Amino acid sequence: MVAGPVGSETGGSDHWSGPPGREGGEGRILVPMATTLMVWIDQDLCTGDGICSEICPDVFVGRDDGLWVVKEEASHFGSTTVFDGVEGAGHGPDGAKGVAQIPDSLIDLAVEAAEECPGECIMIEPYDQAAIDSRGA
Ligand code: SF4
Repeated sequence: MVAGPVGSETGGSDHWSGPPGREGGEGRILVPMATTLMVWIDQDLCTGDGICSEICPDVFVGRDDGLWVVKEEASHFGSTTVFDGVEGAGHGPDGAKGVAQIPDSLIDLAVEAAEECPGECIMIEPYDQAAIDSRGA
C-alpha cells in the first residue's frame, strides 16, 4: 500500500539533513537526505511468502517466526538496523513503529514490492522525521 502521491515525493528536494539553519538559501551547503520515503510492514497481515525480499532484499527481510520485516542496510545507511521487534543494538520495533527509510535508489523496487505483496501489508509513506525519531521510544 502506497500512501500519498509517491511521484511527487521522489524528487529529493523537499527534505534536507544537517543542522537547522543550513537548509536552503544562497551560499549554504545543502546536504540531501538519503531518503524521501519510508516503509513498514503490518505483520498481522503478512503471509510470509517472501515476495518482497525477492524483489527488494536491501529493504525487506524474513524474521525467525516466518513473518517479514523492514530494515536499513549498512550499504545505504552506514550500519544495519532490522526492525524486527528484537531488543538490542542493530534492531528496532516492528509494525507501525518500525519504519525504515527507503534509499532513494530503491524506491522503485520498494514500491513494486508493495504492489506485489499479497497481504497488502507493506506501507509506504512520505518521510516523516517525527516517526523516525520515535522508533526508539
Ligand atoms: S510480500 Fe507482503 S505478505 Fe509477502 S512476505 Fe512480504 S510483507 Fe509479507
